[in-house]
Amino acid sequence: MYTYDDLSKYEYFKDVDISHVLDSLTGVISRPYILGFAKDLIKRKIPFSMCIMDIDNFKLINDNYGHMSGDICLKNLGYSFIKYVGDTGLVGRFGGDEFVLLCFTAYDYDSLHAYITALYEKGNIVRKMYKLDNVYTFVTGTIGSASYPKDAKTYDELFTKVDKALYRGKTKGRNCFIVYVEEKHKDIDVHRREITALPVLFDNILSIANNGGGVNKKIKEIVDYINETLMLTVSFVCIIDDNKIISSNRRTPFYYDKEYVDSIGVIMGKNNIFYSSDLQKIKDEYKFAEEYLESKNIQSIAAVKILLDGEVYGYFVMAENKIVRIWQEHDIALAMYVERILALLIKK
Ligand code: GH3
Ligand code: MG
Repeated sequence: MYTYDDLSKYEYFKDVDISHVLDSLTGVISRPYILGFAKDLIKRKIPFSMCIMDIDNFKLINDNYGHMSGDICLKNLGYSFIKYVGDTGLVGRFGGDEFVLLCFTAYDYDSLHAYITALYEKGNIVRKMYKLDNVYTFVTGTIGSASYPKDAKTYDELFTKVDKALYRGKTKGRNCFIVYVEEKHKDIDVHRREITALPVLFDNILSIANNGGGVNKKIKEIVDYINETLMLTVSFVCIIDDNKIISSNRRTPFYYDKEYVDSIGVIMGKNNIFYSSDLQKIKDEYKFAEEYLESKNIQSIAAVKILLDGEVYGYFVMAENKIVRIWQEHDIALAMYVERILALLIKK
């Protein structure tokens, strides 16, 4: 936890009682003080960046291992955070499983990007196993960030932008960070969450399936729609019979061949649904798949068998390259639904 010596370097904390300033669970600065400090920096026109890290699927840690274990995890996260950040910034608890970092050393896009990249790669804060009582769990977090005065003139404006960036990071698959860029992120509406609720996605996919046009066109449109709503880099359908691949990835054109389809078949084995964010495990188990996964820098993969009358007819595959996507139940439920629609379309 922070000590009086750590904080008394800053004018703002000079005369405060340290026991009031710290969050009792994590030992980082409590919400009113870290936000008060940010507002004070703005008042004094001192440039800085604000980053919020929200732990991914933290509810699952509570649900699987209990609240006490969740508390241990937050406490250890706070400790790791303070230790890594040192004098480059101050760490506070924004609330729940959200930490806020005010960074004093990086407040333009490039330096902040480099700072957060290093935090993920060398910080030893997330993307690591935490020991909770007698279990170990892998913890990841998503960061949204923006800078004063580059992105905002007031605290409220700055927070709105951090929140937009965080929201984008979560919808992009978690375990990643977003540095706010006005042109890219200004139109994000964090209150739009309900529009992408599963029933709405299901309904939209059903509408595509019922539209006019040939089967291939519909499949392509469905794959396109998934790519857009889940912000996936890659998703495609491979049909075993004629080894045909229908893909709608505009950004990364893929070359597919029979071996690739077979690789997916072997990876899936007897499972009807397969998903993993741990590609190393797949590579270790299925040596021959390595080349395909690596050539496209695929980091996470989720696949569902397309079953027709009990026979495997093909695969619907979602993949992510460059970042490790933390698959959500929501993503997998969507994939399972798409499989049923595809099976019906193909059968016709
Ligand atoms: P997401 O990836 O979308 O962030 O998923 P999430 O499960 O982390 O969801 P969210 O951030 O919305 O929820 C945070 C959860 O953290 C909700 C609450 O149950 C839990 N939580 C909040 N404060 C505490 C705490 O002090 N201790 C423990 N153990 N859990 C907390
Ligand atoms: Mg969370």
